[in-house]
Amino acid sequence: QNLSDTVPPESALATADGVPVQLMGNITLLSEVVSMHHYGIRDIGLYRTEFMFMIRNAMPSEDDQFNIFSRMLKAAAGATVTIRLLDAGGDKPLPYFKTDHEDNPALGWRGLRFLLSNPEIMAPHLRAILRASALGDVHILVPMVADLYDLAEIKQALQVAAAELRQRGDKIGDYRLGMMIEVPSALYGLDRLLPEVDFVSIGTNDLVQFLFAVDRANARVSKWFRQCHPIVLRALQDICRQVHAYKGKTVTLCGELAGSRRALPLLLGAGLRQLSMTPHQAPVLRPLVNQLSIPDCEKLFARAILCETEMDVMKLIDEAGMIKS
Ligand code: PEP
Ligand code: MG
Repeated sequence: QNLSDTVPPESALATADGVPVQLMGNITLLSEVVSMHHYGIRDIGLYRTEFMFMIRNAMPSEDDQFNIFSRMLKAAAGATVTIRLLDAGGDKPLPYFKTDHEDNPALGWRGLRFLLSNPEIMAPHLRAILRASALGDVHILVPMVADLYDLAEIKQALQVAAAELRQRGDKIGDYRLGMMIEVPSALYGLDRLLPEVDFVSIGTNDLVQFLFAVDRANARVSKWFRQCHPIVLRALQDICRQVHAYKGKTVTLCGELAGSRRALPLLLGAGLRQLSMTPHQAPVLRPLVNQLSIPDCEKLFARAILCETEMDVMKLIDEAGMIKS
């Protein structure tokens, strides 16, 4: 089957008062594109490339990677494909890459740090992505950026990879460059980081983990993993305000929170208009987007950030009755 045959038509999703909202897909493997299309999603807001590395028993070569990216772009048929740079390490180790034991893997040799310190992995990866950028609407997303230095290092590596490709005579497209906001230092340093990127994507899975110092994968502490806490809501609003002050820069939320029907009015109230989620959640959210109006969401949001606890926020959402169960 030709993958691009399944692309759904463009849908103009909007709130009850006509404000456009875009739902995008989080995917881990090429094979998920068909089911994403089935759920009515065209654009990929987060392609977690680490799974392409994890399901193999050896490091994929530049050509192996390019091959997969080009099939993905062909399947996307002109829609956006947000390729996140390899976010391995931590809870996503590469089976064929032995590392020493770490006491705190979530804070350890993972994401961008792992990539920058392994140029033999990073260089072919960047070249494969840059080559793919000539084939469609590629957004390159950098994980785990903590400060300007991180960003400068990866930009430099992209330049080196681009120079190599030019020398080889390979084409590079007009890609957009963005960063994840998932490390608290990036939240507080955003005014410095924003001029350096075209877009940001908020990773609430890690951001909440680090803001509250609570392991995202440990069931024993899951009640302390408070995604709808007023502190998180304030962070979301602050990010949206800063990004919206720049013409042309965009902000997406791609953590699990993006697919929560209960949180939806608050996310819209915070200023978010692009949500990237596990694809099966989109059919549930679409009719809710249609029913909600932005002024109502903003009013609810203004009350929610005055709450003291996540429990109070949840009560407020339920009492407002905006989400019919
Ligand atoms: C996040 O941290 O919220 C995120 C989207 O990335 P991942 O879940 O892959 O760490
Ligand atoms: Mg993350």
